[in-house]
Amino acid sequence: MNMAVTDSGETMLKGISASPGICIGKAYLVDKEGVDVVERYFIPESKIRDEVKRFKAAVKKSTDELRDIIEKTPEDFLQQTSILETQQVLLKDKMLYGRAIETIEKESVNAEWALKKVAAEVKSTFQTMSDPYLKERAEDISHIADRIMRNLVGAEQVDIGRIYKRVILVAQDLSPADTSQIRLDRIKGFVTDKGGKTSHTGIIARTLEIPAVLGADTATASIRNEDVIIVDGTAGKVIVSPSERTLVEYEERSMRYKQHKAAITRKSRRPAKTADGHRIRIMGNIELSEEVVSVINYGADGIGLYRTEFQYMGRAGFPSEDELYEKYADVIEVMGTKPVTIRTLDINGDKAISPNNGSAEVNPALGLRGIRYCLQRPDVFETQLRAILRAATHGNVRIMIPMISTCEEIIRSRQMFNEVAEALDKEGAVFNSDIKIGALIEVPSAVVMADKIADEIDFFSIGTNDLIQYTLAIDRGNRQVSHLFRPLDPAILRLLKWVTDVAAEKNKGVYICGEMAGYAIHAPILLGLGMNEMSMNPQAIPTVKQMIRSIKMSDTQPLVKEALRLASAEKTFGLLQEAYGDVLSEIERTE
Ligand code: PEP
Ligand code: MG
Repeated sequence: MNMAVTDSGETMLKGISASPGICIGKAYLVDKEGVDVVERYFIPESKIRDEVKRFKAAVKKSTDELRDIIEKTPEDFLQQTSILETQQVLLKDKMLYGRAIETIEKESVNAEWALKKVAAEVKSTFQTMSDPYLKERAEDISHIADRIMRNLVGAEQVDIGRIYKRVILVAQDLSPADTSQIRLDRIKGFVTDKGGKTSHTGIIARTLEIPAVLGADTATASIRNEDVIIVDGTAGKVIVSPSERTLVEYEERSMRYKQHKAAITRKSRRPAKTADGHRIRIMGNIELSEEVVSVINYGADGIGLYRTEFQYMGRAGFPSEDELYEKYADVIEVMGTKPVTIRTLDINGDKAISPNNGSAEVNPALGLRGIRYCLQRPDVFETQLRAILRAATHGNVRIMIPMISTCEEIIRSRQMFNEVAEALDKEGAVFNSDIKIGALIEVPSAVVMADKIADEIDFFSIGTNDLIQYTLAIDRGNRQVSHLFRPLDPAILRLLKWVTDVAAEKNKGVYICGEMAGYAIHAPILLGLGMNEMSMNPQAIPTVKQMIRSIKMSDTQPLVKEALRLASAEKTFGLLQEAYGDVLSEIERTE
């Protein structure tokens, strides 16, 4: 267990340092397994009827909520609502509904307790069934029980969109759909039980500079609503109910961190040039148009990855062409002549389109994700392409296609791009189709086929988050295997080398936009491999730039050669530490 009690009696949780910085504030628990925090109390005989009524009302509210979600789900996702329909039926099933009422009446206990007790029994009955379909229904029982429980206790837990105070969000896990509903300006920090560094909560937290500790295992069990907590995102620590002394210490640390940030930000506006004069473009990754501010602030040379799917999540229906056009135009205009790389819709996988209605795919990471989805829904893809082409009149735009796993996908994407341009032309619309198109290289088959893909595109951008996930068979959001998620793994370095060699041979640009690029220690390798551009979460830019300034380009090629001979991530890390450890600790010392 990642939990310890300090000398002064504070509880300290250890998790993954997902976004640096320190915040102090009150915890806001998004307790999805609310069933666990229930107390038992007895109900006098005269009040039993009211208690049953209260339970029935909570069930009715839950049924209405489910109906509402089903009705608002875009037609295309109706297949996913079958899970919710099953849950609707189970809500009124005798096993749960009938027995909970019976328990209230027979044991004279509160509805919450009765629900908790019955749900646990029913869940374990389902779990012991041999039929896999029925076994899976145990999950549905959990979801239903949670929903009824929330309605019973009147908690706001699901409605994270309505948080009105500045709080630290504590949750078991946050799906991208959850994150897309949150008013992020209200969030001081994130703490979750599950999730790793490259989970989307981690990425958003880094981009918005919100301190985050993820994968803390027991956070929701150890922290209560309104508890004062300290989140040390740099060290991956959470301190619950800190003593006065600890509070003072962390307030000072937080202040120092902010001062240091301000100092390196000032230096960050200068271009990234190695000690021997080689210039590399450093770009920012964004998810929401608001984040463009930090891209500018940290002196990025452009946007290397604009993740566009967040505009599609947590809502009913798809955004319209005009809505998308406005969003893109805003970002493009702010960036002026600097390139904005718009990644087309990378929906599904871990980014299901509609909130609260779990995906129907058994294995979503290998499912209808990214370009696969877009090619099956040409109407959705065309709408986005039209918006991009129109917005491209405002500045310097590139298009990047995610989840390319075959050449046909990129060929078809380009055809659709041409068709959209032709249609806009016929309509007499104002647009710009002089746009570079690139493939996001994140599936191993795309690396293998890079030479053929190169003939169809203008640039490669390597998405190491998924490339590591798919190459090493490591779920990027799974804490259990996060120790294996290593960008310096020799298998990954070999794939990167393969792509950069093909790019050089075919005279195509080669960029990297996975999280790997945001760690200063990787910079010598990435330079040596010949990356033309590195795109990262904006707050990583100052440190990476500082690192680049202390590297000699001429040292990096021999370094890569040596790294490629090594058989483990540890050894390559050791090699880098040996060559650049001093520089790094100097950078970190000033941090
Ligand atoms: C990646 O996979 O590396 C990437 C950049 O895209 P995302 O993290 O959005 O999947
Ligand atoms: Mg990806």
